[in-house]
Amino acid sequence: MRDPRYDILFEPVRIGPVVAKNRFFQVPHCNGMGHQMPLAHAAMREVKAEGGWAVISTEECEIHPSSDVTPYVEARLWDDRDIPALSLMADKVHAHGALAAVELSHNGPTASNLYSREVLLAPSHQPSKYGYPAQARAMDKADIRAYRRWHRDAAVRGMRAGMDIVYVYAAHDLSLPMHFLQRRRNQRTDEYGGSLENRVRLLREVLEDTKEAVGHRCGVALRFATDEFLGPGGVELAEARDVVAMLAELPDLWDVNVAAWYNDSVPSRFAPEGAQEPFIDFVKKTTTKPVVGVGRFTSPDTMVSQLRRGVLDFIGAARPSIADPFLPSKIEQGRLDDIRECIGCNICVSGDNTITPLRCTQNPSMGEEWRKGWHPERIAPKSSDARVLVVGGGPAGLEAARAVGQRGHEVALAEASKELGGRVSREARLPGLSEWGRVRDWRVGQIRKLPNVETYLDSTMSAQDVLDFGAQHVVLATGCHWRRDGFGRSNGLGIPGLAEHPAVFTPDDLMDGRMPSGTVAVFDDDYFYYAAVAAEALVKAGCRVVFITPDDTPASWGAYTLEYRHVRKRLAALGVEVRVSANITGFAGRTLALEDVWSDAPSTLEVDALVTVTARLPNDTLYHALKAREAEWADAGIETVDCIGDALAPGLIAHAVYAGHRYAQELGQPKTDEVPFKRHFHTASEEDLRRGEA
Ligand code: ADP
Ligand code: SF4
Repeated sequence: MRDPRYDILFEPVRIGPVVAKNRFFQVPHCNGMGHQMPLAHAAMREVKAEGGWAVISTEECEIHPSSDVTPYVEARLWDDRDIPALSLMADKVHAHGALAAVELSHNGPTASNLYSREVLLAPSHQPSKYGYPAQARAMDKADIRAYRRWHRDAAVRGMRAGMDIVYVYAAHDLSLPMHFLQRRRNQRTDEYGGSLENRVRLLREVLEDTKEAVGHRCGVALRFATDEFLGPGGVELAEARDVVAMLAELPDLWDVNVAAWYNDSVPSRFAPEGAQEPFIDFVKKTTTKPVVGVGRFTSPDTMVSQLRRGVLDFIGAARPSIADPFLPSKIEQGRLDDIRECIGCNICVSGDNTITPLRCTQNPSMGEEWRKGWHPERIAPKSSDARVLVVGGGPAGLEAARAVGQRGHEVALAEASKELGGRVSREARLPGLSEWGRVRDWRVGQIRKLPNVETYLDSTMSAQDVLDFGAQHVVLATGCHWRRDGFGRSNGLGIPGLAEHPAVFTPDDLMDGRMPSGTVAVFDDDYFYYAAVAAEALVKAGCRVVFITPDDTPASWGAYTLEYRHVRKRLAALGVEVRVSANITGFAGRTLALEDVWSDAPSTLEVDALVTVTARLPNDTLYHALKAREAEWADAGIETVDCIGDALAPGLIAHAVYAGHRYAQELGQPKTDEVPFKRHFHTASEEDLRRGEA
């Protein structure tokens, strides 16, 4: 059972009128399901309560139609009709002895009101944050009174929904109490603007209102950002210290972090575990109330250190609770090597940012709890005694072997190289990506515990080998490789001269240790992390790097994973020259021919080498060789042959893990044309629809 060193993590902590059973606190996090998919949302939260978290929070919860954040889908408490959706969550959380928390928010000028068409509200007249072509208007005293009323009403609704903790939100540059604090958003000359005392006034009033409205039944938490790293226009640490001192004992709980979201949920490429400590460690010294903070904590020793050193009272987590909803239980049961550690890739964040249900690289069941009935720890036992051969030990093959093995099948995992992990092992050697190796490490660790899974390294499988093997089910997870002919989004016919040029390199070359030298152009027609990581690797190897992309910005998809700003800063710090809206039209000798995407103006650039990051091709030769010999399958005892992951269609590591897991889940089930998951519908009955009530 649990190591006594970790006992402190399991002490109960009082939050106003309620008591958390331990110190594990799932702080609010977005999930792309929110008010539109309440059943899916509740099931996702429930699994974390089941996994031992003492407090489970919603994401930000809109309190009024004038704070509509469409197209993003968050929680909602506009009126009483929104209560049942949140009750669903509260009930499921309570069923496991955990507390439920709701994070009330009015987003002011950081809302969109695209759906409600209300005029945006703000401390002073200003443009809306996200580039919508409308301004927010300055709130007058009546607006402030109305806002306080809406917040109070929403707090009462939260309590009626069964929430044990009600948040006042002043973080992430996303809510009015924070906007009133920010000089750049608040130029008021009345008692709500000017001095710090005045700018804090609204936050103080809302805290007092909330305590008065629900404080007898609910803990009142304050989520507060201590620094925005924007200088005097934003909340700055020096002022934040004063704010904490002014409000020290008012909330029942301080939830502290840094803003905006891209500074809070920093990918592992740019920040290690516990990176926020220097910005929040003063809080506990200023208040007697409990303090929760985040830092992508996955190590129980780091967690204990945070508590023992007086930094935090609660271990806050969003991403670690997504990657492993059972993290607390595993520590409690002394099963540390079963913890599925977050890798800090922020694919989870991309769910909210693309307005789709949460997904996770490490935990393929995340977001699938309700619609597919997947569970992060349990899977149905096998339905036959079939033997399964998995070819390829990358993330897809490893997850397939692990999960099929967990079902109880006899599994053989054959890997051509001398190490497991496939692309994960190779990418983890690139700058900043070492934590990604956790995708391999957790799966290899689990497989080692399964006596029914046999691993064969250094075992390249041919079609004949597969036919001779004697497995009933064969799954090919043989990965993919990068193209070197320039084919990609911008060049559907490839780029003349590339395929045969000796100084053209791909990410595969770099990962295999074949590095160019001198002046190197990196051509990014992929738009995510590879090209920027390649540029960093090249600079570290002593190259001068020019980053060229046909896109209008480098690494644009990184905006969905909160990497974009960090990537740009890193490229600038590394001295990488960035050329955007530029396509490559040819490469001969040392001369790269370029063309401006918008003006078609040609130019040239002299380089020693070119690294192309354009597109990939599946390694599917084995699959096609086996398909060509389908007539021999029956004699070989083979019932099914599937191709999954990058070998089917190159994608993210998250796609590969999901594909491996899905293979295991569906093994033995007949293939159908049915929609493969449950969906939310807006109405319970056709009758409601016809009445116009749904
Ligand atoms: P994915 O992301 O889909 O899991 P990866 O590229 O990470 O794909 O992993 C594919 C793995 O398959 C690599 O480790 C590679 O060495 C292995 N592999 C490819 N072809 C064969 C083969 N014929 N026999 C055994 N292993 C193979
Ligand atoms: Fe962590 Fe990546 Fe999973 Fe997010 S998607 S929880 S960052 S492993």
